[in-house]
Amino acid sequence: MSPRKFVLFDIDGTLLRASGSGKAATERAMREVFGTVGRLAEYRFSGKTDWFTLLHLLTPEGFTEAEVEAALVDYDLALARHMSEIMKDYRIHALPGAHELVRALQARPDVVIGILTGNMPQMAAIKLRAAGFDPGDFAVAVYGSEAPMRRQLVPLAIDRAEQYCGLRFTPADVIIIGDTPDDIDCAHSIGAKAIAVATGMQSRAELEQHPPVTVLDDLADTRAVLALILDDAHQNLRI
Ligand SMILES: [Mg+2]
Repeated sequence: MSPRKFVLFDIDGTLLRASGSGKAATERAMREVFGTVGRLAEYRFSGKTDWFTLLHLLTPEGFTEAEVEAALVDYDLALARHMSEIMKDYRIHALPGAHELVRALQARPDVVIGILTGNMPQMAAIKLRAAGFDPGDFAVAVYGSEAPMRRQLVPLAIDRAEQYCGLRFTPADVIIIGDTPDDIDCAHSIGAKAIAVATGMQSRAELEQHPPVTVLDDLADTRAVLALILDDAHQNLRI
């Protein structure tokens, strides 16, 4: 059986909660690599790629876009090192139903699952492992080091899925699951299906302001989420 659906998961607020560890590691890594954190204290990461975050915080401090881009590899390494040092002080845990849903999808030959995250590559793997996921369970991944705007990651993910399984997924067969309007925007940018979960910083009401989207309180009802993913008839259901 060849795959017929491609499901892309956001990480923070969707699969897991990192409980502030990401921001703490970001502060340390930015000081090490750039010597400043800009206005990080009042910044909200949710839905943004790390590349965008660095541009937003550092261009007001005098850094050029080219300087930020050139430092991304060093930043990825520094961020992973600081995260590894501090993460024992934070509770990083999977959100309700996330493990069960990933396992259920991974077992299906008709579904390819991937990660679409704003995180840097090493940070993504660290957070996933800390919350009990195996990054290798996701056939493809696109990261916040690969484009400043989150929606730019979607075509990259579809290209990678094609490299993985030899099949070009059409937008109607792509499902993007996330916790922010930016995740919903990723789906809308190609006409894919958006499933939003109110387990991050955004409330159900905030997420529902970005139709078409199916908003769930969480991923706990594996069968219901599977039905949403596999059946195109279930648009805009409230569960
Ligand atoms: Mg998120």
